[in-house]
Amino acid sequence: MESSTNLINSKKIAMVVDDDKLAQFFIKQMFEDLGYEVLVAVNGHEAVRHFRGHINVITMDYNMPEMNGIEATKSIRNKESKLEIKNPVLIIGLTAHNDKETIDACFAAGMNKVITKPVAQKELLDILTLQN
Ligand SMILES: [Mg+2]
Repeated sequence: MESSTNLINSKKIAMVVDDDKLAQFFIKQMFEDLGYEVLVAVNGHEAVRHFRGHINVITMDYNMPEMNGIEATKSIRNKESKLEIKNPVLIIGLTAHNDKETIDACFAAGMNKVITKPVAQKELLDILTLQN
């Protein structure tokens, strides 16, 4: 039996972290169109729980209940250190606010990029292409 695990393992994995159902749907779709396997987390706690270093890219909503994108990013960066992960995951922050204070906070927490919602597939693709 040809293992489907190999296929899954060879696929890049994205995690979409967002409390908004529509945003989840559209961003998930964008990643799937680009050939990614996609996990969805509805808040920061879930994102941190799912994260074990096997994920290639995360889109992280800034504003979420329970644990926001800033706290979740910090926790994921901590988890990477604890697990001694050599290649830190690409974290793309998504926010409706593009003021300097918000964006600075995103980078300070450990996000690599910040883009403004609504996300355009082209913008996402440009970031993913630059990484490879
Ligand atoms: Mg939100």
